[in-house]
Amino acid sequence: MRMSDIHDAIDARADSATIAGLPLPDTMRAAVVRKSEVDIFEGLAAADKDPRVSLHVDEVPIPPLGPNEVLIAPMASAINFNTVWTSIFEPISTFTFLERFAREGELGARHDLDHHIVGSDAAGVVLRTGPGVTRWQPGDRVTVHCNSVDLEGPEGHEDSMLDTSQRIWGFETNFGALADISMVKANQLMPMPDHLTWEEAASLGLVMATSYRMLVGQNEARMTQGDVVLIWGATGGLGGFATQFVRNGGGIPVCVVSSPEKVALLRDLGVEHVIDRKAEGYRFWTDDDEPDYGEYRRFGGRIRDLVGEDPDIVFEHPGRATFGASVFVAKRGGTIVTCASTSGYRHSYDNRYLWMNLKDILGSHFANYDEAWKANRLVAKGMIHPILSETYPLAEVGEAAHQVHNNLHTGKIGILVGARERGTGVRNHDFRARHVDDITAWSALQ
Ligand code: NAP
Repeated sequence: MRMSDIHDAIDARADSATIAGLPLPDTMRAAVVRKSEVDIFEGLAAADKDPRVSLHVDEVPIPPLGPNEVLIAPMASAINFNTVWTSIFEPISTFTFLERFAREGELGARHDLDHHIVGSDAAGVVLRTGPGVTRWQPGDRVTVHCNSVDLEGPEGHEDSMLDTSQRIWGFETNFGALADISMVKANQLMPMPDHLTWEEAASLGLVMATSYRMLVGQNEARMTQGDVVLIWGATGGLGGFATQFVRNGGGIPVCVVSSPEKVALLRDLGVEHVIDRKAEGYRFWTDDDEPDYGEYRRFGGRIRDLVGEDPDIVFEHPGRATFGASVFVAKRGGTIVTCASTSGYRHSYDNRYLWMNLKDILGSHFANYDEAWKANRLVAKGMIHPILSETYPLAEVGEAAHQVHNNLHTGKIGILVGARERGTGVRNHDFRARHVDDITAWSALQ
């Protein structure tokens, strides 16, 4: 059996029994980094390490299937920054995670291979279910969230992100989404919103659920109506969803971006308060690597000019470059919620502005199943939309990761895996027609 026969059956909307009865091929295409190449960038600065050199589309064996696991055929996936980190072996090689996983036992050992199949977002079709899976059937159309947990111990039962076995699928596990067949836990699956194309549905998972937890869910900043939220990178993966959640929840976004095109895109979406950080030339660090308080004040003054007050919440992820300013500009009693450190993970901020003004810093990481599910439900109801701007074929995954590494993209970059062309997979055309303007605001960039 060839993979194309399985894709034909999916395109023909074959029923569950037919999909379950199709033999799987022995090997498949997968986007991988190779263990033999973890040192290829030694001596280079992170910015000079090129995913086009280290990401390969290789022919590899089909993933094994264990208890409570599911094999899916991703029809599309998307590039997340974690695929950039894997492909440049920063801050450490992700083979380290796979080796650690292997030390936990037999099931973990399956992940420790000489190649790492990457990718943490997918929309596709269930092909096989393992022992213990009852809620999903072959043929189901699904999106996948990337929180992989066992919940064997007590720690994760209030919030699965606290489980000590918690891993990000396709980053800290093998058998990620950028492959003809991928292996996930059944409790990563969610119904695919039926008004979306494969690539739109695949572009949602990781960044949308992360933003949802940071702002909307009950675990982190818990935005309420009228909150002013400063959003860094507001047309990026995380920021594009943060902007939508703030607007959908009655908050007031103050969006920071770095080009007139991105400002225009936010204006098209109806965002009133936008700062072009490049045009306004903020430099929060001096040449001597000292924080520049004058620049902090200029930035805070700009926010006050725009919206009349300081931010209740700062949505942080650039890290070292912006963190000191984020702490400084947050309102007295406000919250800085952070999930990343793109520009450097050794942050520095002036603690006087934190404690004297009773501010909080919250660390956040991806999302639990409930949060991911609720975010996905908002998409299915047409309240939150994909922010896909470009789509590449699997063969060009290195170029797609290069774009994200160099901040050349807007929103999300999709990857066609099983889908043969863009624009396929929509089931509910009427619903789509009613929401198409919102969707195309971002898709128009394609
Ligand atoms: P992205 O699509 O590249 O967007 C990030 C945005 O940040 C860029 O569009 C850029 O916007 C802005 N930015 C980059 N460098 C900046 C700087 N020095 N100063 C100010 N703004 C800067 O990436 P993403 O998918 O949103 O992810 C962002 C980070 O979050 C990555 O490090 C990723 O690994 C991490 N992340 C963590 C989690 C988690 O669960 N912990 C989940 C998702 C992502 P402008 O140039 O327009 O300002």
